[in-house]
Amino acid sequence: RLVPAGLVAGVMLVAAIMLLGRQQMSLPNAVKMGLRRKEFFLEYQPVVELATGRCVGVEALVRWRRPTGEVVMPDLFVAIAEDNGMIVRLTGQVLEMVAHDTRHWLAAHPDFHVGINVAPADFYAGNLLLRLQETLEAMGAAPGNLILEVTERGLMDPVVARENTANLRRHGFALAIDDFGTGYSSLSYLETLELDYLKIDRSFIEAIGTGAPTSQVVQHIIRIAKDLGLRMIAEGVESQAQADFLRKHGVQFGQGWLFGRPVSFGEVVRQMEAAELAEAALVRAAG
Ligand code: C2E
Ligand code: MG
Ligand code: MG
Ligand code: MG
Repeated sequence: RLVPAGLVAGVMLVAAIMLLGRQQMSLPNAVKMGLRRKEFFLEYQPVVELATGRCVGVEALVRWRRPTGEVVMPDLFVAIAEDNGMIVRLTGQVLEMVAHDTRHWLAAHPDFHVGINVAPADFYAGNLLLRLQETLEAMGAAPGNLILEVTERGLMDPVVARENTANLRRHGFALAIDDFGTGYSSLSYLETLELDYLKIDRSFIEAIGTGAPTSQVVQHIIRIAKDLGLRMIAEGVESQAQADFLRKHGVQFGQGWLFGRPVSFGEVVRQMEAAELAEAALVRAAG
């Protein structure tokens, strides 16, 4: 295990307590209230093809706007929603918001992907497929437009994981294993699952070229993805050197501040249109 989970949990706990200190309600109650009042919203981060720099999709990332106006990041409330039986409801709102934000764009861009983070509890709830199909109907989109991002934690039960992944893929949804390398899944186990993408965790991208003991790990992960026949999305790409390294080693897609921060879907569309205009101008100038 390369990311010390205890440290991460500790930092989050401290942050949650600090957040709690500034409000009257307990945090789980505040999340519950937030769901009732629909205080959650989405930002979308571009996913680009490393060879061309073209934006091929986005990942939907949930945020919480408190009544105070303060915006809270998911690392501080997703675990609380999970631990208090509220995550399935939160995912429901996320699906509704994705449908609302992206429907027109997706209808006109059948190859465009929206990545949605699915919690283990969603995976085990049993009705995920039905809920997704309802969302798609509302969106007028195809299942191939969605990439469901599941962490290794969500794939822990081999029977449920195998059944659900196969079933979702049979219905046309794409599946990604998220934060790859931070969990415990064995390769022989992963081999038995039907998946489409592997998302390389940011911690390994960060280590590229640093000479740190973990700086070699990304090459092993790339090797694993290739062996499993999975396309790769690198998370947290912040420098051109990282992007160049990844492209040279056969990673197809990247996501990170180098390409774009999470923003409203409208802003992503504006950025894509601006990039298209710039490219067209370049072509005209060359011709
Ligand atoms: P994730 O799925 O691995 O999402 C990627 C995280 O990396 C996002 O953090 C994103 O803002 C951040 N990131 C992207 N590029 C860069 C970069 O270049 N540098 C740095 N330092 N960070 C970068 P965010 O939005 O805070 O989300 C954190 C986690 O919360 C997500 O990790 C995901 O596990 C969870 N999450 C977010 N939205 C949802 C959701 O709708 N449902 C569920 N169940 N979990 C969600
Ligand atoms: Mg994700
Ligand atoms: Mg991830
Ligand atoms: Mg991650």
